[in-house]
Amino acid sequence: MSDRSNSENNTDSAANDIAQAEAPKTKKAAALAAAQIADVMSPETIVVDEPPPKPNYPQYRVKPGERISLADIDPNASEHYTKKQHVEEELEHLRDRLGDLQERLYAENQRSLLIVLQAMDTGGKDGTIKHVFQGINPQGCQVWSFKKPSDEEASHDFLWRYHQRSPRRGMITIFNRSHYEDVLVVRVKQLVPEDVWRKRYHAINDFEQMLTFNNIGVIKFFLHISKDEQKRRLQSRLDNPDKHWKFSSNDIKERLFWDDYQIAFEEAINNCSTAYAPWYVVPANNKWYRNLVIARTIVDTLEAMNPQYPGAETGLENIVIPN
Ligand code: AMP
Ligand code: MG
Repeated sequence: MSDRSNSENNTDSAANDIAQAEAPKTKKAAALAAAQIADVMSPETIVVDEPPPKPNYPQYRVKPGERISLADIDPNASEHYTKKQHVEEELEHLRDRLGDLQERLYAENQRSLLIVLQAMDTGGKDGTIKHVFQGINPQGCQVWSFKKPSDEEASHDFLWRYHQRSPRRGMITIFNRSHYEDVLVVRVKQLVPEDVWRKRYHAINDFEQMLTFNNIGVIKFFLHISKDEQKRRLQSRLDNPDKHWKFSSNDIKERLFWDDYQIAFEEAINNCSTAYAPWYVVPANNKWYRNLVIARTIVDTLEAMNPQYPGAETGLENIVIPN
């Protein structure tokens, strides 16, 4: 062995000693921080002014370690509501609330919120963005839609393009598709081998934890529709000329892999619903109920974050604006 490799080995073993001595302390600090964040990211009860009669949206949160089966979750669920008119007023109220909370988050300029939207094709990601976020000041909100990676994106590690677009302080950022595509379409279409995508669950959990340690809250929604509902929505895109632009024959090809996608979603949700970055499986056959659940969940999460306006400069009362 050369001197050089010897000294490298020594450095390595010294580094290992330090790492081992630090490991319990680091782990404890990380666990404590994650637990504190978890309280905020998973508020147990509705804290909005006028809670619905049965505040049960937390039932859609997947608890860490729980193994859900999508087949057991009814995509038609809508509590006691049966039509859009029943929820319109509450949705309006939630949108106002969201607008206020977003303004406070922006003014506070310390923390931010990342909202991940995933679904089968036609699942309603675009509709959710349009209907839930319409009251928000565009200056404080960003939407990123992720498609097939460009050559440049594909030549980096899989998280590179998502990390770059994670929210800066004060912002609400929506990922329309996300880093989860790298364990969904990539898995189903076998774009990389299993031993590559399987390690990604771990990488995703670490990535999301790192974001939360940097004051970025992370909540994730799977908009759960049935296969029949997808057929109806694809058909209506074919039947309605105004919707033709939304129709992609690729969606028909992907539909053939429905069962594989359901399994991939289940496994992603089961492996990556953590206390600090929870997944919510939202019944989404009824668009209005989907919007209601998502709006409630986001408002409740922001209420728990409780962003504050920063203090004013001192002596404002003595300031006279010159002519
Ligand atoms: P759309 O959201 O309908 O515009 O479609 C975007 C397409 O990009 C979908 O077919 C996704 O599956 C695909 N896509 C998104 N992310 C990735 C990725 N990381 N690797 C491969 N395909 C992706
Ligand atoms: Mg599409």
